[in-house]
This record gives sequence, C-alpha cells and structure tokens, in this order.
Amino acid sequence: MAETIFSKIVRGEIPCDKVYEDNLSLAFRDINPQAPVHILIIPKKDLEDISKIDTESGLLEHLIRVANQIAVSEGIAESGYRLVVNKGAHGGQTVNHLHIHLLGGRPLTWPPG
Ligand code: AMP
Repeated sequence: MAETIFSKIVRGEIPCDKVYEDNLSLAFRDINPQAPVHILIIPKKDLEDISKIDTESGLLEHLIRVANQIAVSEGIAESGYRLVVNKGAHGGQTVNHLHIHLLGGRPLTWPPG
C-alpha cells in the first residue's frame, strides 16, 4: 500500500495531538474535528482499510477496546458516541490507513450524508 500521512504520524515524523498509545495502536485528535470529541484510533501496522484486517488477529477488537476506553476518559461514555470506519471513495475514506473515528460530545444526526 502507498505511504500515508498516518504512517508518518506513527513513526513520529509528523506531530499529532496524541490521546493514547500502545504497542499496537495510536489515538490522536482529528485535525478537522466534526464534534467536540473527534479522535482517530489507528493500528500502528500499515493496513489500507477495514477490508484488509485479519479478523482472526484480535486487532479490530483491540482498536474498539481502545476507542471505548477513550470514550470513558473523554467523559462521553454515558452520553453516547459514534464509532465510524470509512472505506473507499463512496465510503468517504480520504486517508488510506485504517482508522476508527470516535465522535461525541453532542447529539449526532442520522443518517449520515
Ligand atoms: P476519512 O475521511 O475517514 O479517511 O478520515 C480521515 C480523517 O483524518 C479526516 O477526518 C481528517 O480530518 C483527518 N486527518 C487528516 N490528516 C490529519 C492529521 N495530520 N492529523 C489528524 N487528523 C488528520
């Protein structure tokens, strides 16, 4: 897969507003937030999108666990939040490195655009 800005963030070559990090994942605030809380949770490993994940690896569960923990630490667990994964052009994916959006801090409308 082609190099993305998120790979550079993982390697520390581009700064980010880091919220959480472990050996498998990194979470940082979205540069263009769509809600009071808008955090991206990404695998450190280069994976182009959600279709490339090995569902036997436990990585997806790990990323969701991290997202849920961050929701607690951000104080939005009780009010609720949304986890979003965009895939491909029609899915609205603009960075081709798998990421989970954690959105919350205000009521979110449905359906999305
Ligand atoms: P998506 O459209 O699902 O691929 O989401 C990509 C997200 O990455 C967008 O919400 C962007 O605002 C965000 N983004 C792009 N570059 C950066 C960056 N350098 N730091 C933080 N967020 C970024």
